[in-house]
Amino acid sequence: MKILVMNCGSSSLKYQLIDMTNENVMAKGLCERIGIEGSKIKHEGKEKYEAESPMPTHTEAIRLVIDMLTSSEYGVISSVDEISAAGHRVVHGGENFTSSTIVTPAVKAEIQECADLAPLHNPANLLGIDACEQLLPGKPQVVVFDTAFHQTMPEKAYLYALPYEYYEKYKVRRYGFHGTSHKYVSDRCASILGKDIKDLKIVTCHMGNGASVAAVQGGKVVDTSMGLTPLEGLVMGTRSGDMDPAIMQYVMGKESLSIKEMENILNKNSGVLGISGVSSDFRDIEAAADSGNARAAAALDVYYYRVAKYVGAYTAAMNGVDAVVFTAGLGENSARARSAICGYLGYLGLEIDEDKNNVRGVEVNFAKDSSKVAALLIPTNEELVIARDTVECLK
Ligand code: ADP
Repeated sequence: MKILVMNCGSSSLKYQLIDMTNENVMAKGLCERIGIEGSKIKHEGKEKYEAESPMPTHTEAIRLVIDMLTSSEYGVISSVDEISAAGHRVVHGGENFTSSTIVTPAVKAEIQECADLAPLHNPANLLGIDACEQLLPGKPQVVVFDTAFHQTMPEKAYLYALPYEYYEKYKVRRYGFHGTSHKYVSDRCASILGKDIKDLKIVTCHMGNGASVAAVQGGKVVDTSMGLTPLEGLVMGTRSGDMDPAIMQYVMGKESLSIKEMENILNKNSGVLGISGVSSDFRDIEAAADSGNARAAAALDVYYYRVAKYVGAYTAAMNGVDAVVFTAGLGENSARARSAICGYLGYLGLEIDEDKNNVRGVEVNFAKDSSKVAALLIPTNEELVIARDTVECLK
């Protein structure tokens, strides 16, 4: 069974074709600048291919993807009939979706309803679903939500201390994101440790451009750091994460900013980019800090400290922790970040082996044998979770 996994953004689209008999990635790629001048596809199948090609909408982009997958030179299948189903990443499922589900008109309407909560993402996800319906007629489609894994959070974790009517009227509550990644790495953590996930208390740290932490107890999320939107929680590449809400009106007054402008600053000009003034890319910030840039060093310190505070908070939430897991771009590639964060956690009895930690992108428990808490690097694989969920939903 071959599953086409789609992750559609407003102007980009990532795809993978996965053979579920062995879970091998047969082909993958990326379409960029959809709807903008200079649209481009990068494809890796039998051969690599990269070219500019007009993609006014997601439909042309997906048509091109299908052409690449079935091309005799670059492709890996002879016809679209070999694709059993498509699995789509959808960012916001609100409170309605606690697990992945087959697409129906009612499901699409509910995703549209949640668009208010994820105005940049859900409409783009729907465009991908519509285009696949057109180009893969009759093939089942499944949606996998970033929010679903977090729906087990208890009320005490998801309620904001705001007038209750905002929750009732507008569904203002904490939802959490990166759920597929937190699910994948917590499951892998249990397998690597050779334990039943039901017996484990795990803190998973997804540290990419966006970043979030989750407390996973017995395989279920009990708390996570992102909220109504992905703005809450950790310091991120360009997002502020937690801050005093009063800062907004204070800065807006001083700088004569509109709400939209302020929102843009919190999402796009803050985080480690805002503090360092260097970049949102941790490679640039680490290099700048090493060459004596004090603001770059401060950005890293603020970032590591915030992650460590969340690990402490979630250890309290679960009354203990058996493992701390690091994943996504920074978590998988920066031994320095993992080491600095674990450096705050000695009080838990967590001790790391710097040699074991000095690796990138491989699964490893880098805690010392004597450590009371495991520390793991686990590369995430959201596409595989989407493909597996798609197969599950078809059963
Ligand atoms: P997303 O999927 O959220 O766009 P990724 O998970 O790809 O993000 O993570 C991107 C982040 O990972 C970037 O900030 C990048 O700097 C960081 N990163 C990637 N490789 C390294 C590395 N070798 N050292 C430090 N940071 C890295």
